[in-house]
Amino acid sequence: MSTAIVWLRRDLRLADNPALHAALAAHARVLPVYIHAPEEEAPWQPGAASRWWLHHSLSALDESLRACGARLHIVRGPSLQTLQRLIESCGAAAVYWNRLYEPAALARDRDIKQSLRARGITAHSCNAALLFEPWQLATGEGSPYRVFTPFWRSALTSMDAVACTPAAQRIDMPPMPTCTPLAALDLLPRLRWDRGLAAHWQPGESGAQALLHAFIEQAVHGYKAQRDYPAVTGTSRLSAHLHFGEIGPRQILAALREHAGNDRVGAASSIAPYVRELGWREFSHHLLYHFPHTPTRNFNPRFDVFAWADDGVHAEALARWQQGRSGIPIVDAGMRELWHTGWMHNRVRMIVASLLTKNLRLHWLHGARWFWDTLVDADLANNTQGWQWSAGTGADAAPYFRIFSPVAQSAKFDAAGDYIRRWLPELAAVPAPLLFQPWRDAALLQRTGYPPPLLDLAASRAQALAAYQQLRAQA
Ligand code: FAD
Repeated sequence: MSTAIVWLRRDLRLADNPALHAALAAHARVLPVYIHAPEEEAPWQPGAASRWWLHHSLSALDESLRACGARLHIVRGPSLQTLQRLIESCGAAAVYWNRLYEPAALARDRDIKQSLRARGITAHSCNAALLFEPWQLATGEGSPYRVFTPFWRSALTSMDAVACTPAAQRIDMPPMPTCTPLAALDLLPRLRWDRGLAAHWQPGESGAQALLHAFIEQAVHGYKAQRDYPAVTGTSRLSAHLHFGEIGPRQILAALREHAGNDRVGAASSIAPYVRELGWREFSHHLLYHFPHTPTRNFNPRFDVFAWADDGVHAEALARWQQGRSGIPIVDAGMRELWHTGWMHNRVRMIVASLLTKNLRLHWLHGARWFWDTLVDADLANNTQGWQWSAGTGADAAPYFRIFSPVAQSAKFDAAGDYIRRWLPELAAVPAPLLFQPWRDAALLQRTGYPPPLLDLAASRAQALAAYQQLRAQA
């Protein structure tokens, strides 16, 4: 009876899991393994909110595996040595996994594949995370796309071929000695700040399916019109589930196609605007694969000499931005939503990022690192692309001179002020539009205890534009 190991990482699901599917098709016994080795992801080890999610996701996966007659074998230790030990103890002939695209994971997985093959073990990797492999889509000259629109146009022409693999039903495991208990991974916070996260999320495959179906029933057709309004549940909120691979983009596409009653996701379809956002996710992952230096360095090297503000000068401002005490209501609402729920609406992510990188002129890495620790959906590809796009330093980015006015953005996307009031209860009684700029009424600030703004929006905007002019003059 041949045995295989399935090395699960961020593909924490049984359905449309090609590595698991391939292992089950070729071997009588399969050992599902999760190896905890966060130091191998340095310098981007999972942050606190991600670790919380991971704990619950592993627990959910173990439960699903038990329903199939197996369980999740958790081990802590270096990946290669752990795999080698497991291969010996269960007599495995093969190891299967689904690919990751972050630079540290790619380098590690290449080494592991080579070492296993050198020892006569079959090492087989698959794609569970993306619609297309990063090397599948290229420009006419054979280089990676740097602009989203042609990238997505090219992706759409191949979309019909995208299909899912069936879910595992029954898994026979080899007998194994006891493994590391999940609690021993120490993923949960000791100071129980995670109550807001628990109230908002159900990590795991069934939580992802429940959200997907609710979104398809209630919001997908209105997505284009509603997606920019943070007070409304107009988006799918699937980002963390996608990051941990509790659901894959192919499954989402299949469910949308079934719902839309057609096989196509052409531009005219009502599901197309949502599928396009999955396209941005895809684009970010392809960019990270082709430009692995971008999590810490500007995609656009012209910005390497940009006059970012001195960190020391703005330490206090950075802290106020992080803690939702900037004195600018839409920004504080977003940062408090992030702190309480581990998630922030995309429109508000863009507003808070613009304030940090343009009005405060702090390097985008300050924001990327804070998001990394606090987002449940923290994802190296999407976070890097989101921050570089917002800062104007990225591929196909918003130009630096496009600086969001938090007041105008509030008036446009939270006109009734519902989102701001939800997260800033101290301003609950303040009517719009004063709610968008409460500093106009000094007595109000005194009465509510809400802080004055940490900067003058107009003056800081002018300074940012001057710094940008200086950069252009240097070019
Ligand atoms: P929906 O609108 O329902 O979109 C569906 C899916 O498409 C999302 O779950 C996500 O996987 C993908 N998606 C949507 N918008 C984008 C986008 N602009 N770029 C890439 N993929 C996208 N997303 C993350 O998943 N992780 C991050 O760490 C992250 N950091 C960001 C940082 C900044 C500064 C900005 C501006 C954006 C960031 N995003 C990040 C992108 C986006 O804000 C989130 O994906 C989205 O808000 C998640 O909510 P949703 O699942 O309801 O999205």
